[in-house]
Amino acid sequence: TFHKSKGQHILKNPLLVDTIVQKSGIKTTDIVLEIGPGTGNLTKKLLDAGKKVIAVEVDPRMVLELHKRFQGTPSTRLTLYVIQGDVLKTELPYFDICVANIPYQISSPLTFKLLNHQPAFRCAIIMFQREFAMRLVAQPGDKLYCRLTVNTQLHSRISHLLKVGRNNFRPPPKVDSSVVRIEPRKPRIEVNQKEWDGFLRICFNRKNKTLGAIFRQKNVISLLENNYKTVQALKISQEGSLKETDTKVDFSDFTDFGDDQGMEMDDDRVDDDDEMDVEDGGADEVQSEFKDKVLGVLKEGDFEEKRSSKLSLQEFLYLLSLFNKAGIHFS
Ligand code: SAM
Repeated sequence: TFHKSKGQHILKNPLLVDTIVQKSGIKTTDIVLEIGPGTGNLTKKLLDAGKKVIAVEVDPRMVLELHKRFQGTPSTRLTLYVIQGDVLKTELPYFDICVANIPYQISSPLTFKLLNHQPAFRCAIIMFQREFAMRLVAQPGDKLYCRLTVNTQLHSRISHLLKVGRNNFRPPPKVDSSVVRIEPRKPRIEVNQKEWDGFLRICFNRKNKTLGAIFRQKNVISLLENNYKTVQALKISQEGSLKETDTKVDFSDFTDFGDDQGMEMDDDRVDDDDEMDVEDGGADEVQSEFKDKVLGVLKEGDFEEKRSSKLSLQEFLYLLSLFNKAGIHFS
């Protein structure tokens, strides 16, 4: 019996397992991380391909099953290492490549955990729910382009490898799936995470509105003005403290963003059609010097008429650096 709550959908198509392992490009010297090995159908092929497999499985019954299945084989005794536990709460060991058919409920936190893992691995080949996968690989202008896309794209390049129908699993899940390849950027693009997150939340609050409309909203202006005053106050009391919060961007690092594929961490599944429209203008608008400052930044970068749904990663990074340069902060 399989646990629905643990997302237990076993891969039952051996050809598909072969294809996934082939496409992952495992080298014989690789340490492979597998998340949620279950009964070991994928694990077996990973053991054949790599030097060592480290598998993290939360369900003790499955761990038992794995031991039964592989302990007898002399070749695997030293090369399979099973960690029993919740992968989200486990400190991950060093690995070269991650290959996994994961429970979909942990897609978002797991992706972020992997992208923050150091030292960076070569790549991760992961089965996701189709829609989540399409959000990861979305490009500016695509319907599924969202905060998750931009957040994941900040730290990696993602490509779609394989469409997988629900009938390849036992029991079949309610949704179709896709296998994607995630390659961490090397070197990383360094941003202040809190700044970046606060900034993207505002930009994607209404992703189809112009940035001019978003940054005219009273609540946005007052939030930024508060941050601004705090930063200015700190600046006066301790010179130099500002530096840490600035977003410094070295543009030489991403001259090749043009063909980039999107990625993100936060599962932002709200469709724009479902969003409530907040009337802006009228009573919600305030005239102030600070507001002019904010709009001045948008004008400086020619962002006023642009929309988040169509902005590239490098445009987001550039806009945030302009705000920070003007002393405007998001955290
Ligand atoms: N890899 C196997 C396969 O492809 O046939 C099983 C995949 S099944 C979709 C997901 C597996 O992840 C299950 O064995 C489940 O027990 C395990 N799992 C669920 N939540 C987990 C967690 N938080 N940490 C580690 N493993 C987890």
